[in-house]
Amino acid sequence: MTQTPKAQELTRARPSLAPRSLHVLVVDDDEGSRLGMELAVRDLGHRCSTASDGVAAFEIATRDRPDMILSDLMMPGMDGLELCRRVRDLPGEYIYFVFTSAMHDKAHVLRGLESGADDYLGKPIDLDELEARVRAASRLLLVQKQVTEQNALLRRDSQQLFAASRIDALTQCKNRRALDEDLAAVTANASRYEQAWALGMIDIDDFKKFNDTFGHPAGDEALQRVAGAVADSLRRGDTLFRYGGEEFVVLLAEQDEIGMRAALERARRAVEKLDIRHARGASHERLTISAGGAVLRAGTTPDSWLTEADTALYRAKRAGKNNVVI
Ligand SMILES: [Mg+2]
Repeated sequence: MTQTPKAQELTRARPSLAPRSLHVLVVDDDEGSRLGMELAVRDLGHRCSTASDGVAAFEIATRDRPDMILSDLMMPGMDGLELCRRVRDLPGEYIYFVFTSAMHDKAHVLRGLESGADDYLGKPIDLDELEARVRAASRLLLVQKQVTEQNALLRRDSQQLFAASRIDALTQCKNRRALDEDLAAVTANASRYEQAWALGMIDIDDFKKFNDTFGHPAGDEALQRVAGAVADSLRRGDTLFRYGGEEFVVLLAEQDEIGMRAALERARRAVEKLDIRHARGASHERLTISAGGAVLRAGTTPDSWLTEADTALYRAKRAGKNNVVI
């Protein structure tokens, strides 16, 4: 029957569910059973390794990661149940585990499945039954693989979303949400590690006049350039956040009052050097910033820290703008 284009597309999009060739590990202390199963597995078109006890089988399982293990239950040394439990504890891709035993009474079947086996085959092995089990293993392993791949994709997507949700779209610096989280982390850990931290609050002077005169697209461009200049003036390890509107916050690691004043001065000069013409009636001819700073002390909370820096910023504004107050 010929397929419609839509059906062909679906067939192509979906990976084949046909059984692929598997690597099967046969474990049995009885040589006759082992050889019989090996032949049967190869007959079905699969690769086969063999082991005569649990210890040897576990070594192969760890080293070669077979797709499927067909294991006897009763063996000297490490028996099938112990082998199964150990295989289940192995990290990495799933190994389909099937017990083979002549003791196919209910209690043994249950013990086998409780130890983590996927299925149980009575001895002597029926070739059709074995083929059905191998097919089941092949299907399950394929689905498992797809789920693992999809999970990896989902994880990558959510990591990207997580990062994006903490970035300010316009200026590409971190946003208010990221600031809240970072401040909570810094204030919670600071007393424990006795680290010096400083926080600066930055505001573009007379920005409303700038926007009213030149329009919002020009205002957005100015915001981007100011954010870029301030970010470039910071050391590695310092972080710039857009606090809202034309307000920014810098979080400075390992910085006391003197270091913070120097950092905020560098940021102020960097913006001045951009030489962006300001609107008529603004306090300064060029676009400038004012900054207020506060260092982290015992008992500082995110709110009290921001308030203290904001108070300093207000004083910088009152003192004529384009300056830094600590
Ligand atoms: Mg045995």
